[in-house]
Amino acid sequence: MLKISCLVSGGVITNYKCSSKCRHCSYSSSPNWPGDYMTPSMADEIFSILKRLGCHSVHIGGGEPLLKPDGIMGVLQAARRNNMGIEYIETNASWYRDEESAIAVLNELLEHGVHTLLISMDPFHNEYIPFRKVKALIKSCSKAGMQVFPWQINFWSEIDAMDDRSTHSPDEYMLLFGQDYLLRLPSRYGLNLKGRALKTYKPMMEKQTYDQILKESRPCRLLSGIYHFHVDLYGGFIPQSCPGFSIPLKELVQGADPEKYRIFYSLESAGIKSFAELARKEYGYTPKAEYAGKCDLCYDIRNYLVLERGLDLPDLKPEGHYKYA
Ligand code: SF4
Repeated sequence: MLKISCLVSGGVITNYKCSSKCRHCSYSSSPNWPGDYMTPSMADEIFSILKRLGCHSVHIGGGEPLLKPDGIMGVLQAARRNNMGIEYIETNASWYRDEESAIAVLNELLEHGVHTLLISMDPFHNEYIPFRKVKALIKSCSKAGMQVFPWQINFWSEIDAMDDRSTHSPDEYMLLFGQDYLLRLPSRYGLNLKGRALKTYKPMMEKQTYDQILKESRPCRLLSGIYHFHVDLYGGFIPQSCPGFSIPLKELVQGADPEKYRIFYSLESAGIKSFAELARKEYGYTPKAEYAGKCDLCYDIRNYLVLERGLDLPDLKPEGHYKYA
C-alpha cells in the first residue's frame, strides 16, 4: 500500500507554465506548457487534506505563479477558507512592468495574507530576466511593505557585475568568472539535478555502467520526504526530490494501490534495479552501456516510456515534465 499519514512542510505548484526556460529547473517549467492554473476548488481540496495530515502552512511555487495574478487570488482565498498559512510565494520578477502596477499586485497579495515573496536571483534566471526587474521588484516590495526572501543573495554581486538592463547567458558568466563557473553552481546553489537540470549537467557528470548502477540499487523512498513535498495544480503529490512522478494526494491518504502505480511502487520499495527490470520485461526497454548515475537511468527509462512509447502511465505525470524538458 502506498500511503501518507503525515506531512509537515511543503508547497503547492499553481502552474507549470513559466516565462523562462531556466537550465537548472528540476520541474522543467517553460513558456511551452499549457496555461493550466490551480482552480479554487482544487486548492480547497488540497488544503483541507494537508490540514488533516498536519501541514498548516505552505509556500506557493510554479512555474511562475504570478503569471496569472487573478488565478493566484483564487488560491489564496481557498487558503484563507481552510485556515492554511502562506509562508511565501516564489517569483522570478519577470512580470514587473512598472512600480505602480507592481505595487497594485503586491497590495492585493498583502490583503490576501501574503507577507513574503521569494524572489529568484541567480545566473540561470538572469539568462531570461534582466536584473533591473529583480531590483525594481525588491524596491516595490519595500514600498508596499512586502518582505523579500532573496534566493539566493550570494549571487548578487556576480549578477550585478553584468549590465542589468539585459539578460546574460552562462557563456558570459564563464567568460567573466572562469570556465568552471557552471560546474561550481550545483553545490553553491544546492541544485536538485532532475528534470532540465539533469539534462544541463549530464555531460559534465561521471558515468557508471548499467550493471554498476543496478548493483548499488536501494529503495528511493519517494514517500519519505515529508518536509519539502509539493502538490500540483492537478492534485498530484510530487515527491520531495523527484518531479515527474505523481499520485493523487486524495488517493495516497486512503492508501493508493501499488498495482495501479507500479513504477512508483517499484522505485519507492525496491529502487532502480526493480524499475529497470520492470521496464525491460514489460515494456521492451533496452539498456545503454552507461549513464550519469541512477537518476539518469531512471529518466532514460521514463523518457522512453512517455515520449518514445507514448504510454499514458498514471504515475509518470505530468507528461509535460518529459515533453518540455
Ligand atoms: S532513481 Fe528515479 S526515483 Fe530514485 S532518486 Fe533518482 S530520479 Fe528519483
